[in-house]
Amino acid sequence: MKTIIEPFRIKSVEPIRMTSRAEREEYLKRAHWNLFSLSARDVIIDLLTDSGTGAMSSEQWAAIMRGDESYAGSPSYYRFETAVREIYGIEHVIPTHQGRAAEHLLFQIYGGEGRVIPNNTHFDTTRANAEKSGATALDFPCAESLDTESDFPFKGNMDLEALRACLDSNGEAVPLVMVTMTNNAGGGQPVSLSNLKAVRKLCDQYEVPLFIDACRFAENAYLIKLSEAGQEGRELKDIALEIFSMADGCTMSAKKDGMVNIGGFIAVRDPDLARELRERLVVTEGFSTYGGMAGRDLDAVAQGLHEVLREDYQEYRHASITYVVDRLHQRGIPVVIPAGGHAVFIDAKRFYPKIPWSKFPGQALAIELYLEGGIRSCEIGSLMLGGTDEESGAAIPAARELVRLAIPRRTYTQSHMDYVVEVIESVWKGRDLIGGVEIVQAPRVLRHFTGQFRRLPNSRAPQAAHALPH
Ligand SMILES: *Cc1c(COP(=O)(O)O)cnc(C)c1O
Repeated sequence: MKTIIEPFRIKSVEPIRMTSRAEREEYLKRAHWNLFSLSARDVIIDLLTDSGTGAMSSEQWAAIMRGDESYAGSPSYYRFETAVREIYGIEHVIPTHQGRAAEHLLFQIYGGEGRVIPNNTHFDTTRANAEKSGATALDFPCAESLDTESDFPFKGNMDLEALRACLDSNGEAVPLVMVTMTNNAGGGQPVSLSNLKAVRKLCDQYEVPLFIDACRFAENAYLIKLSEAGQEGRELKDIALEIFSMADGCTMSAKKDGMVNIGGFIAVRDPDLARELRERLVVTEGFSTYGGMAGRDLDAVAQGLHEVLREDYQEYRHASITYVVDRLHQRGIPVVIPAGGHAVFIDAKRFYPKIPWSKFPGQALAIELYLEGGIRSCEIGSLMLGGTDEESGAAIPAARELVRLAIPRRTYTQSHMDYVVEVIESVWKGRDLIGGVEIVQAPRVLRHFTGQFRRLPNSRAPQAAHALPH
């Protein structure tokens, strides 16, 4: 059959509260045009993030009931440990309440003043934890990753020459190399097995350990199966095992491919490192058999890790994202191609070519998507990633102006996605009438979370200015 169906049926539903455009204008005005400040009940389709927002299966809910809340040695912990060992093939498993806690532990040991941490692209919490320790976080994405129109299938790859140069010039200052799979900050694009092998080879040559930021490892494994030569006949669990066979350890946010609402872990091969991590774990997260998680949540992760590697699930997951990307691309709407693992990215620079980066075209588009159809998305452009030059005080742009529509796992159906396409299309038709956005007030760091904004009228379309609510 050509139709790829959602490989589940729905047992429990959560009503969506429908709103009118006039209501949404009022809500967003009160939120100072910042989508993070909205109440989630005023959102129709929430694509702000895929982190912890997915639906659990009936087997996961059953696992929740099985959860054992013993402080030490809970059977839930052993089921969790067994699942991670089986799927990742890494011996020592240390639970944490989410991914950033795992990163915090890792950089307590590997970070520090004068150290240099290379990655294909650090996720923002990874960068923050590395830098908070005093280390310098460096990104080496491959050249293809900057071209939003190239259909190269592994735009998450590491730039091998840049990594070699970094290892060469920094020597002992590099305590480990990280590879983020898929590359979240780089558009959810996957890393190929051959690129990972080449990274491993460099790590061997320079005698540095390799850690994988494994948040979306199963989506990455599926994209390897789909696009890498020689991988098409393999089972996802074998590809996943091969990925981790190259690593000395990994950090994981179970809120992504763990298919749960909260949780994470760090897994390592070296028993001495594991002991040191556990000593620190007990100070900030909890005892080594729960590490900040409830027993029931450990059980839900154990079940989720098996479900995420099912072929039918990954086939549907990828199809639901490609479905939107293909439809937008066919209509000439600028999206990042090929579709990444967990989100649709609209290129706001090409969507609104007349809005300069300093007027935040991505934020302008995110606002329009909410007003038009109650869709909540997230700007990943100069508002989130740009900044201010310390010396001159000049504003700095980001490399790209993107809007991310992250798709929660198993949460929305194809008709929800049809609606999303229709809303985007309608905003596209009115694109000439839209002005940019200005910051009214914002903190210096992470300004996208709490900043307050103002919409600017479009000077080239004065007749449309009255359409703006103020
Ligand atoms: C989400 C994420 C993290 C952090 O995990 P949290 O559970 O949100 O703390 C780290 N790395 C990547 C690539 C992520 O997507």
